[in-house]
Amino acid sequence: MANDKKNIKDKKPKFSPYWIYGILIAVFLGFQLFNNGGYQDGNMTTPSDFFKFLEDGDVEKVDIVKNTRVARVYLTTDAETKEAHKNSKPTTLIPSATKLPNYKFEFGDLQNFENRLNEATKDLAVKPIVTFDTETNDWGNLLMGILPFILLIGVWIFIMRRMSGGAGAGGGGQIFNIGKSKAKLFDQNTEVKTTFKDVAGLEGAKEEVQEIVDFLKFPEKYTTLGGKIPKGALLVGPPGTGKTLLARAVAGEAKVPFFSLSGSDFVEMFVGVGASRVRDLFKQAKEKSPSIIFIDEIDAIGRARGKNAMSGSNDERENTLNQLLTEMDGFGTNTNVIVIAATNRADILDKALMRAGRFDRQIFVDLPDVRERKEIFEVHLRPLKKAKDLDTDFLSKQTPGFSGADIANVCNEAALIAARNGKKAVDKQDFLDAVDRIIGGLEKKNKIITPSEKKAVAYHEAGHATVSWMLEHAAPLVKVTIVPRGRSLGAAWYLPEERLIVRPEQMLDEMCAALGGRAAEKVIFDKISTGALSDLEKVTKQARAMVTIYGLSSKIGNLTYYDSGQSEYGFTKPYSEQTAELIDKEISDIIEKQYQRAIKLLEDNKDKLTELAEVLLEKEVIFKDNLEKIFGKRAFEKEERENLDK
Ligand code: ADP
Repeated sequence: MANDKKNIKDKKPKFSPYWIYGILIAVFLGFQLFNNGGYQDGNMTTPSDFFKFLEDGDVEKVDIVKNTRVARVYLTTDAETKEAHKNSKPTTLIPSATKLPNYKFEFGDLQNFENRLNEATKDLAVKPIVTFDTETNDWGNLLMGILPFILLIGVWIFIMRRMSGGAGAGGGGQIFNIGKSKAKLFDQNTEVKTTFKDVAGLEGAKEEVQEIVDFLKFPEKYTTLGGKIPKGALLVGPPGTGKTLLARAVAGEAKVPFFSLSGSDFVEMFVGVGASRVRDLFKQAKEKSPSIIFIDEIDAIGRARGKNAMSGSNDERENTLNQLLTEMDGFGTNTNVIVIAATNRADILDKALMRAGRFDRQIFVDLPDVRERKEIFEVHLRPLKKAKDLDTDFLSKQTPGFSGADIANVCNEAALIAARNGKKAVDKQDFLDAVDRIIGGLEKKNKIITPSEKKAVAYHEAGHATVSWMLEHAAPLVKVTIVPRGRSLGAAWYLPEERLIVRPEQMLDEMCAALGGRAAEKVIFDKISTGALSDLEKVTKQARAMVTIYGLSSKIGNLTYYDSGQSEYGFTKPYSEQTAELIDKEISDIIEKQYQRAIKLLEDNKDKLTELAEVLLEKEVIFKDNLEKIFGKRAFEKEERENLDK
């Protein structure tokens, strides 16, 4: 029933700006019609007939229109009753106060006609009145006058429609709805229901939002004791970790309407629109209270105000933010509207947003760990037809650093790959392929690569594998491939430990392993290549971070140049020229040392490196087992395992 009602409402024609054009055109045409139908210009006649009428004394008045060379003839009242003029009486739709012409004709040359007219009227007892006229086409002129404006307005509306991103956003008639909020509403009538069951992992976060659910369900429980309902919660975490999902689950659990929109939806090219949208959003939410407003990517409007002195701060964004703050302060404790916002950059948000009474609850939603990944896999594997022996433990271990959204993507991609291969169920290999595909991009089997290039790639990757195998703190290897994928020609994949604190020796070992590729090229071919660009980038970044951020260099000492409160556009360096030199030297020293270490390691194990590279050239993809065959069991393996299982 409720749905039916909604449908009927939807079918009502919407007001659109084109209606204005329609009405204008209709009015214009209408006038034209009345003009012609209601006002007769007289029957057509000829000059000779006219002079005959003149001789008979039938003509009362001649109206000579100079520019159109038409003369209008008005007969005397007596003449109108004559048999000859029976049909000349003007008929009108709307009665006219002035007399209308009975005839009209074209007179040709004005001078001649005037002479002839004077001649003809010279002897007449009652001379007809002769008037001269110039006729202007009022409507035509008016049209010419307003046409440019209509065109201008038309173009403007067209641009506006384009700007406000036609599809879906706010429906039709954007020009009139520009100040309306673009929030999508999910309520009882929407099909999709999300509950906490759909959110895997995130135990801590779930617990915190559980309280909000409680507030929304039983507000009296808290208000009778004088407690205040929280106004806002801020979900902070990297993209794809399930912030939207969590907010939606809160609404689903509390069974309240849920307004969802993104911070950038407030932004428009016109001043004041953002603030007006905020007002509208809160008005709607209050009407449906208790309800939840979810603002994704709130950093789009909530960025700290007035920091960007260089670019001239963005007033419009500040207005929007101010309005948001005002609205949040404005609703009383009994309004029952809770604002949940999400961002991955809590550090750049305006302090005013975070103060007590606004987004005073910050809930951290982090990338999932192994155990949580397993749970997320289980949620997303539910709808899939999977092989019986599929091991979710294995899958969660293969996907370090993946977010919930990545995992959802892997599951979907695996199903697609299985379908493409005509399988009946999705198996382990499909998942591995999906992971490869998501990390590395599409396989490019037909990428043209010369044998010598291929050899270089093989030695490069074998170099990474060898060095990381030999170093205690380098991440354990998962697989090495020289199948070109996306933009890379080959890759060595590791299973990074999920560390919370990183020690300098771990960082150094990782840098050494990253430099292993270039070192192998140097040791084997005594040549280096551009193939190490991404390795170098990674190593340089890490070395710089060690020196300038984490205070791990003894020469610079225990200080950091990292400022968590600084905006991204800092143009000045917080250190002197000498320190800058020292920093640069430290960075290059660290890197050089690790490079030499990698070279030494590879020179000592040149035979094994060569063996590995040959296997790689032959098989294209090798796993840990192949390495074990060449190098024997990895010395540090046991400890790693223990760490992982913890
Ligand atoms: P965010 O808002 O943090 O960027 P989303 O909430 O939009 O991320 O997550 C995108 C998708 O990822 C979700 O629709 C869901 O399919 C999946 N996802 C993310 N985290 C989880 C999780 N903890 N449990 C289940 N699915 C998840």
